[in-house]
Amino acid sequence: MTEDSVRETVIGWRRYLHQHPELSFHEERTARFIAETLASFGGLEITRPTPTSVVARLKGARPGPVLAMRADIDALPIEERNSHDFVSTNPGVMHACGHDGHTSMMLGAAKVLAGRKDDIAGEVRFVFQHAEELNPGGAEELVKAGVMDGVDMVIGAHLWLPMPYGQVGVRSGALMAAPDNFVITVSGAGGHAAIPHETVDSIAIAAQVITNLQHVVARNVDPLAPAVVSVTRIAGGTTYNVIPGQVELAGTVRTFDETLRAKIPELMKRIVAGITAAHGATFTFEYDRGYRPVHNDERATDLLRRAVTRALGSEVLVEATPTMGGEDFSAYQQKVPGSFFFIGARNEERGITNPHHHECFDIDERALDSGTRIFVAAAMLQGVGDQGSGPGGEG
Ligand SMILES: [Zn+2]
Ligand SMILES: [Zn+2]
Repeated sequence: MTEDSVRETVIGWRRYLHQHPELSFHEERTARFIAETLASFGGLEITRPTPTSVVARLKGARPGPVLAMRADIDALPIEERNSHDFVSTNPGVMHACGHDGHTSMMLGAAKVLAGRKDDIAGEVRFVFQHAEELNPGGAEELVKAGVMDGVDMVIGAHLWLPMPYGQVGVRSGALMAAPDNFVITVSGAGGHAAIPHETVDSIAIAAQVITNLQHVVARNVDPLAPAVVSVTRIAGGTTYNVIPGQVELAGTVRTFDETLRAKIPELMKRIVAGITAAHGATFTFEYDRGYRPVHNDERATDLLRRAVTRALGSEVLVEATPTMGGEDFSAYQQKVPGSFFFIGARNEERGITNPHHHECFDIDERALDSGTRIFVAAAMLQGVGDQGSGPGGEG
């Protein structure tokens, strides 16, 4: 079984999954498809640690370390607007992040590796994870279920639209941010819009809160430390002549550094408290911590560099640009050394340029083959240490 021989099958799986997307924590059909497909390869120990996740273990012929590789399998609540012939058949749900591709390219790697058991040292553990897109995320659940027990190293990839097909981005250290969310309510006293002096205008005060929150990043955070505070939703008021009693603001905070991450909500709260007090209003402040930042381990990143080089040649390898996006892959990294990387899937000429979570999101499907090859190469290299050569040289 070679990578070449599974290439078209992997594309077929991706298209099937794309047609049947399921939301986070509801991936029943997807998980069944994955488990049945894995079972058809033979030689894998398949378990279902949670109702919609699947784990397969491939035990090599010789002893060695345990390498886990993770693919996320969930879709998003988006109505697809693509016109290709494998659009979503599940109304209002779409694989708009590329997780259909992650699933299929790792199935491809499992199929190839299942046929190379004799050449594998240690264990390869394929983790098909549910619910990456919805806090608290599936990764945390799988860690609690023991999926990382005994694992020496974990790797995972994202098909990546900011990067062209033909590039693979790898990086040691900070790669993706911690995505936290907040909700602020500003409560004043409603009344007639023509008699503002008898009200406490929650809209005008909320507007001050929004502009002043910009000072958190602009004036209170080291300019060399990445941070984002975005207000993304304002809700208040019903009509022209009524000043509403309350306005709700919601948004997101992104950071890499845990100290800064802890400090930002305090800075925000101080501003909200000061502005509302100054104008005679009150407030509530809710802050939900999301995933931890993705921070790549040096040794795991080195394995990835060697795997990419072996699978596709050193010319495709680039240093990944960190992003303020979040990923629950970080939950595994709390438990074992791991590295997350980006596989370029953009194609300007073919108009495959829409960002992740867009209603016309698509990928250059050639990137799936890259993913399969890198995962296979990583598994083959894992057991042979740093020597760089070993069995399965066609990887
Ligand atoms: Zn996503
Ligand atoms: Zn994603």
